[in-house]
Amino acid sequence: MSMMYQGKAISVEQLASGIARLCFDLPQSPVNVFNRLMLDELREAISAVAASEARGLLCCSAKQTFLVGADIKEFTEYFKQSEAELLAWCERTNGVFNAVEDLAIPSVTAINGMALGGGLEMCLATDFRVAGESAVLGFPEVNLGICPGFGGTVRAPRLMDADTAIDWVRTGKPVKAHQALSAGAVDAVVSDDMLEEAALEMLEQAIAGELDVADRRAQKTGALPLTNEAIKKTFADGLARAKKDAGDNYPAAATAVEAMWKAADNNRAVALMYEHQAFVTLARGTVAGNLVQLFLNEQFLKSRAKKQAASAQPVKQAAVMGAGIMGGGIAYQSSLRGTPIIMKDIAQAGLDLGLGEAEKLLNKQVERGRMPQNKADRVLADITPALDYTGFDQVDIIVEAVVENPKVKKMVLAEVEQLVPASTVLTSNTSTISISLLAQALARPENFCGMHFFNPVPLMPLVEVIRGEKTGDQAVAQTVAYALSLGKSPIVVNDCPGFLVNRILFPYFGAFCQLLRDGADFRVVDRVMETFGWPMGPAYLLDVVGIDTASHCMAVMAEGFPERMQYDFTTAIDHLYEAGSYGQKNGKGFYRYEHNASGRPVKVFDEAIMATLKPLQLDQQDISEQAICERMMVALCLEAVRCLEDGIVSSAAEVDMGLLLGLGYPRFRGGALRYIDNMGVAAFCAMADQYAGLGALYEPTPALRDMAAQGKTFY
Ligand code: NAD
Repeated sequence: MSMMYQGKAISVEQLASGIARLCFDLPQSPVNVFNRLMLDELREAISAVAASEARGLLCCSAKQTFLVGADIKEFTEYFKQSEAELLAWCERTNGVFNAVEDLAIPSVTAINGMALGGGLEMCLATDFRVAGESAVLGFPEVNLGICPGFGGTVRAPRLMDADTAIDWVRTGKPVKAHQALSAGAVDAVVSDDMLEEAALEMLEQAIAGELDVADRRAQKTGALPLTNEAIKKTFADGLARAKKDAGDNYPAAATAVEAMWKAADNNRAVALMYEHQAFVTLARGTVAGNLVQLFLNEQFLKSRAKKQAASAQPVKQAAVMGAGIMGGGIAYQSSLRGTPIIMKDIAQAGLDLGLGEAEKLLNKQVERGRMPQNKADRVLADITPALDYTGFDQVDIIVEAVVENPKVKKMVLAEVEQLVPASTVLTSNTSTISISLLAQALARPENFCGMHFFNPVPLMPLVEVIRGEKTGDQAVAQTVAYALSLGKSPIVVNDCPGFLVNRILFPYFGAFCQLLRDGADFRVVDRVMETFGWPMGPAYLLDVVGIDTASHCMAVMAEGFPERMQYDFTTAIDHLYEAGSYGQKNGKGFYRYEHNASGRPVKVFDEAIMATLKPLQLDQQDISEQAICERMMVALCLEAVRCLEDGIVSSAAEVDMGLLLGLGYPRFRGGALRYIDNMGVAAFCAMADQYAGLGALYEPTPALRDMAAQGKTFY
């Protein structure tokens, strides 16, 4: 055995059998990814193999998993290049994969763990593939708004049946080894511990001519073996599905399928050209920029939370006080994720409601075949309903979720504090009350912080962990760790009215109320904002949140930020509240709610509502749809800016992820600060200045104007 090539990330050794064994092992990284180093070394390694006497090439990985794709962080730098530069980079890089494919000797990849994106494209460049049974393959590129760029769209449809290849590329979904085998993406699946042995055996068969290498290469580099009719049908179907599933706001899937279609009756060189064009168009587009930044934000959030939770003790037993909508959801989620929880309420009716909520969620899972009955029983059994404090001497963390009333909350927190060990962390799921204020009731305020969940708890990924004036690091660590154990994404924020998410949401509702005051129709506002990409417009969202809850929050925000959020007119929310229209919860708000066959509330427009809102329409104006969107977004984005300036969180990534995870901010737009960046800070300020007459909500901060003057951005 001798070394044929030794790089930092790739080595090639010549085995005694005369086989060249190329091994990916990126230093100081838990996984293999294609960064500049790996690509450069792959070029050198393949040249070394080509120049050697080796009889065959085996590609494998020294990591737990084969290769998970491109180094996204590095790629964002490439994406900033000009179209011509990026195209040239694609061509150069693909030269390496072509060189793998064109070696004079047969080649096989041994796929362990994951082969995703560029990792899968590497596998497809060799003649044959053997996968371990636990391997997962896929093209996740569309999730980042791009398409495969290392020949994936060319080789996949030529190796697999075209329909399946289209599905892989357009959905971005990971596929298990056995499925990949029936799709033709791999040639064999073996038990994980036999992988390399089996791959070497296949390589020997290829060398011996028992597998037809020339035929395989002709298949991979030629046109698709389909009639024009079949091509048209297959790709038209695929394109229609790509457009339907991804929608207009996510163009990657359709662009990729179009490129595959154009390439279908062409050879490798031409087909690659179509792929590169699609890749470059997408990579340089705004959507890919936003989605790639989001991916980086997600990574950042995860690693930050992990660090914040580093000193936490394991939570073995939790408790929630208040068994309402939120308490029930929190108990369900905790038990589901393996932390037993006591659910305490003052009323049996409350407990019945909370348990009922958990039971309903579990039954749904069982009915849908997602959970066996015995697991559902176990989850329910791990929620201990209680009317007294039995067991509280064993609790590691408590989430207070009683009614939104500072007096009641203070009393409940002070009472329970006396009954638990000094190490127990107390948290409050308040949506509006200052954490520093609640802490005044406590003897150990350092052990207390906010833990703000979103409704419905099982579905909403965000938890805001709120640090009050006296909150200690250990309380934050413990709460972040508990949130992670619940499968949530925690963001640590400093205390202020509305914390991060509601502080940004309520100015948006303020802008909405001003629009209605000025004569806009709430249905039009909803439509405009839904077209922008929000899952629901502001009127519908207010109905879902609850008009009573919103009215209460508006008052809290007005008190906290009177200069911006105190309105000198009676808002639509006030009118509805006074009329007893609380939204979806009592069947009437901006819309009326009727139950459909499956019992779900469906919104309908009821002309009668206009009479309730009429008093607002003092000064009928024609407000353009563009102005509607701008007014809503200016108010929202500027509050996002202020949150960052006030140090509520310390990074643009946390602001934008908070909006995304807490409010369903449209992913393809990246976030509020990203929105300003995309427009240009100066252009954004100019847009805001058009609405200066509407009040302080629309006024750019001095720091933002400075950024504009200096040409700075948030990212
Ligand atoms: P809810 O009215 O459904 O439930 C409150 C429960 O607390 C009731 O079961 C009540 O019996 C119980 N309770 C009252 N006093 C108690 C006491 N002294 N000890 C124990 N239990 C007591 O309310 P909810 O919607 O679940 O909200 C609870 C908290 O969560 C509030 O602070 C609310 O602001 C916050 N929150 C609500 C939402 C939401 O969308 N509903 C979202 C985030 C946060």
